[in-house]
Amino acid sequence: MMMHTMTDITQKRRKVSLVIPAYNEGRGLLRLREALQPLMDNNMRLTDDGREVGVYDYEVVIVNDGSRDDTLEVLRGLHAADDRFCYVSLSRNFGKEAAMLAGLDYATGDCAVILDADLQHPVDAIPRMIAEWEAGYDDVYGRRATRGRESWLRKRMSLAYYRLLQSASTIDVLPNVGDFRLLDRRCIDAVRSLRETQRYSKGLFAWIGYRKKDVEFLTADRAEGMSSFSYMRLFNLAVEGITSHSTAPLRIASVLGFITAFASFLYLIFTVVRTLIYGDPVAGYPTLISVILLLGGLQLCAIGIVGEYIGRIFMETKRRPVYIADIYNDRKI
Ligand code: UDP
Ligand code: MG
Repeated sequence: MMMHTMTDITQKRRKVSLVIPAYNEGRGLLRLREALQPLMDNNMRLTDDGREVGVYDYEVVIVNDGSRDDTLEVLRGLHAADDRFCYVSLSRNFGKEAAMLAGLDYATGDCAVILDADLQHPVDAIPRMIAEWEAGYDDVYGRRATRGRESWLRKRMSLAYYRLLQSASTIDVLPNVGDFRLLDRRCIDAVRSLRETQRYSKGLFAWIGYRKKDVEFLTADRAEGMSSFSYMRLFNLAVEGITSHSTAPLRIASVLGFITAFASFLYLIFTVVRTLIYGDPVAGYPTLISVILLLGGLQLCAIGIVGEYIGRIFMETKRRPVYIADIYNDRKI
């Protein structure tokens, strides 16, 4: 008994950081606090498959990603009421990818759980993630059992995209896996060491490796407001995913070029031989035009692909920081 209390006193509790990017989430944040309260008070220690997780210190790092609503005021209030709620406010909207990195930079925990501010990532799944972390996994990611209220087209496109991404790159980016995940301190530091400005976090999480484990969860519908990811934004993210983790499009361009060149060469020999044997009746204007147009189109495509990569080189060579933090816990930085 004596020994037990001794270790209780001497052994420091481990800390779990909850990293939450927030863009125009003023209304949702209060509901989020309510949802997190039982977890943070260690009143949610049983997982739904009956395992018990340890007692932890909790810290919440909310990143205000240049919100236009009252998010910052709400965060000030949360921090004043409970200093386990920390916040970082970025100088403008840098996007969710940058906001997540900012959160990881400011998280001090032994592990961090990244979750959305809109309650689409259920807090009930977190004890299960922690249980897997205790079991020795470094990167425990949430896998959506269903995708919630989403249009048929969006679902289809997303699945097709992951199939494409998987075949284009060497890393394993999984479908139905988002940014909801628990990262061990080693993974946090690994992700933090990747300072590229054109970020595609799902790819980065896959790239760092470590022991991974999935935890299934049900996506809830957004609690407040609207999704800020339009089709256009998703398309840009999709291009980002492919170009930042694979050079396959460049290879496809060269392969296409090689095939056309080879085919034209064969055709050239064929034409020469035919002309020698049968003479040269001039014809084939339509064929000529179609071939010129086809090749012109292919060339423009290839230049476009090369351009995508050059654009990325251009952005990265500027070596700009991924985000600029403006305020940390009421202090200007
Ligand atoms: N978010 C952000 N910066 C942005 C856009 C979104 O930090 O520029 C946050 C947002 O507050 C939320 C999370 O990223 O916590 C997911 O955003 P959203 O719910 O709009 O996307 P979806 O659920 O449709 O993927
Ligand atoms: Mg959402």
